[in-house]
Amino acid sequence: MAEARKPGNRAARFFKEAVDALASLVLPAPCRICEATLTSLSRIPICADCLSRFVELRGLGCEKCGRPIASPMAATAAKVLCHACRRDIYHFDLARSYAVYDDAMVRAVTLLKYSAVRPLGGWFAARLCEVMAREPEKFAADAVVPVPLHPARQRERGYNQAELIARPLARLLGIPMRAALLVRTKPRPERLKLSRRERWTSVRGAYALRGGVRVDKLRLLLVDDVFTTGATLDACSRALRRAGAERVVGLTVARVVTAGYVPVTAASSVPDGPRDAGAGERI
Ligand SMILES: [Zn+2]
Ligand SMILES: [Zn+2]
Repeated sequence: MAEARKPGNRAARFFKEAVDALASLVLPAPCRICEATLTSLSRIPICADCLSRFVELRGLGCEKCGRPIASPMAATAAKVLCHACRRDIYHFDLARSYAVYDDAMVRAVTLLKYSAVRPLGGWFAARLCEVMAREPEKFAADAVVPVPLHPARQRERGYNQAELIARPLARLLGIPMRAALLVRTKPRPERLKLSRRERWTSVRGAYALRGGVRVDKLRLLLVDDVFTTGATLDACSRALRRAGAERVVGLTVARVVTAGYVPVTAASSVPDGPRDAGAGERI
């Protein structure tokens, strides 16, 4: 990759990260979510209270894509599926997320995405391990695959935020991370916000296996930061399936849910209730 041919950039980035890491250990800094002064020495610039208040997706949900389902009718159904999955639109076998993409989570994901706070990636990986531990039979896997950025975007940013989660996750699971497997061949449109339809059309055919490599019979954990419409996980899953993957399971830190979602177990800790982050999940 072109990025690897620019040792100057890499050295500068490494130096900046080292200085930032040192500063965060020496200087009292505010929590990047609630702005309270951080009192304990931590490499994660979020206070313990905020870390404990993310709204976990633990309630009743679609058995396939994990979409929260409020209907009490669904609880008695033999197989709980959302209407997207009843229409069988996704090419992954299963998808699960750690928490709701509410305001606090938007800030946390932003830290990962634009500030490369690696320890936070490790913290999220540990939470994803807990999610997997609730349904261990569904997560047997041979490798972890981060959703790739377009090479131009990755050069500009210097890293891929999905990889910041996938690498520690692979380490925790004791399986390899295969970051070079998938490549994004079509860039994402420049606009920050995309409609639901644009999300689906912008990723159609946008991912491929690098060098036409095969992944026959492999069971893969596909990792990304946010599940918005599921279009990205779907497009990556199609490419992996076409290359022979036996099973593709999507894992994301956060998930956009429709306004009005009330968490089953965390309701008491979130008096206002989570809000729709407005990213357009309307399946
Ligand atoms: Zn805080
Ligand atoms: Zn579903």
